[in-house]
Amino acid sequence: MPAYLDYAATAPLRSAAREAWLAHADGPANPASLHRSGRAASQVLEDARERIARLAGAARREIVFTSGGTEADVMALRGLYSRARSSRVLVGATEHKAVLDTVRALPGAEVVVIPVQADGALRCDALAALIAPGAALVAVMAANNEVGTVNDLAEIGRICRTAAVPWHCDAVQWPATRSVQDIPADTIAVSAHKLGGPVGAGALILRGGPDLPVYTHGGGQEGGIRSGTVDVAGAAAFAAAWEDAERRREEEVPRIRQLRDRLAAGVHREVPDAVVRAADPNRLDSHLHVTFPGCESDLLLMQLDAAGVEVSTGAACSVGIPQPSHVLLAMGAGEAAARGSLRFSLGWASSVADVEAALAALAPAVARARRAGAATAAVRVS
Ligand code: PLP
Repeated sequence: MPAYLDYAATAPLRSAAREAWLAHADGPANPASLHRSGRAASQVLEDARERIARLAGAARREIVFTSGGTEADVMALRGLYSRARSSRVLVGATEHKAVLDTVRALPGAEVVVIPVQADGALRCDALAALIAPGAALVAVMAANNEVGTVNDLAEIGRICRTAAVPWHCDAVQWPATRSVQDIPADTIAVSAHKLGGPVGAGALILRGGPDLPVYTHGGGQEGGIRSGTVDVAGAAAFAAAWEDAERRREEEVPRIRQLRDRLAAGVHREVPDAVVRAADPNRLDSHLHVTFPGCESDLLLMQLDAAGVEVSTGAACSVGIPQPSHVLLAMGAGEAAARGSLRFSLGWASSVADVEAALAALAPAVARARRAGAATAAVRVS
């Protein structure tokens, strides 16, 4: 088994989620059907909705099931924009592409990018200066997926409320280690597979009720917002995974943090010139983001992979296309750092063995990546 340190990309399935999924995957499970099987499926779905609503501190009618975080983001952003009178959209500079590319594609939108500090946290002073009453929406994430930096959610909520501008919060990286109830946003995107649920399940939380327009036309499921037969087994497994994460939080999170800190200390020992981005307390307990000077991150990632250690360059969704990270560039890290960084992310099943395997592989992998990078540069020059 490889040492898996890429929970921010996706987490292994929790056994509670697997059991819930298996219990309902055989169906027949169309919750819109009127017969007994359909009613049973509807009961499972509404039970999952109820449990997710409780976890989110929301009402049942405020939960719209989606296929994951991306769809929840797109649904919220397009929906809020279509309701607005203004075309001014404020977006954090380090948002996930699901948010950034969606707001850029909104028809006629005037997109205003809110800068971040060197640690990646949104500059609330800039948000306060740029927001104008009547703006269409603000899109700012709870915590960044690459570096794990946590935003000042209370302050962002206060600024948006004062200006009466709706706030969409991408909280996809959040519930694996923190409570969504702490997010005072109007719409919140969550995804099952980041916390040990199945891929393909997620939700949009609509605080204050479902006042969004139709996202997909059809059978009128999900309060008429998202038509299409709902994945009952996925929703049940999502609820089971989230409950499991919440139930184990007091034990799980300190353990994850200790492992992450052990890894950070080891990285400094093995590669003394490595630079850790973002720092506690302003960071998720699951994330460790490191720049390795003189390395191309994809070369380093492949060296570690060959040694059985799985990590990420940060933005999993653009893997395969080596590009400098827009997150690090926004943090002012410079192009070389933005190309030479790795994200280690830990979660519910991470172990000391995973951390030690990564540390054992690190120094040789960095040395080889540096040599390979130098050789490539020499070929380019000659
Ligand atoms: N938003 C953030 C912050 C993410 O980290 C991700 C996944 O990497 C997404 C959105 C997309 O979520 P999903 O894979 O569930 O569509």
